[in-house]
Amino acid sequence: MPSRIEQLCIDQGLKLTGQRRTIARVLSDAEDHPDVDQVYRRATQLDPRISIATVYRTVRLFEEANILEKHDFGDGRARYEEVQDDHHDHLIDVKTGKVIEFFNEEIEALKERIARDLGYELIDHRLELFAKPLGSSDDDGSD
Ligand SMILES: [Zn+2]
Repeated sequence: MPSRIEQLCIDQGLKLTGQRRTIARVLSDAEDHPDVDQVYRRATQLDPRISIATVYRTVRLFEEANILEKHDFGDGRARYEEVQDDHHDHLIDVKTGKVIEFFNEEIEALKERIARDLGYELIDHRLELFAKPLGSSDDDGSD
C-alpha cells in the first residue's frame, strides 16, 4: 500500500522514483517533526545510496506541491511534517526541543474573530508556543 505522501504524489501527478518513494515513506512514518538531517539518516537506513542532496531536493519538491509543511521552531533548522486534514498547533519545549501538538477550540474561534473584526476571512494560521516546563529554573540547563 502506498504511504499517504506517495498517494498525494500520485494524485498530483508527481513522478516517484525509488529514492523519492523511500523519502516519502520516511516522512509519512515520522511521528515527530524531522529536519532534513533526520530524514536523511532515516532514509539511508532503508537505502544507503540516497544522498543528502536528493533529500533536500525531494523535501523541497514535496513542500512546493503542498504535501509537506515547513515549520520554524526557533532553532534555525527547518522542520517538516505531512500536511494533514486536521489542523493543530505546536508547543515547543525550549529546554529539550520536544514538540507537543495541541488543538484548542477557543484559539480557533478567536483567530477567526480577530480576522473578521479586521474585515478579513481567515484562510490559514500558525501558532507556536515556546515554553519551559513548570518549575524549571532559568539557568543554562546544567542541572
Ligand atoms: Zn505538527
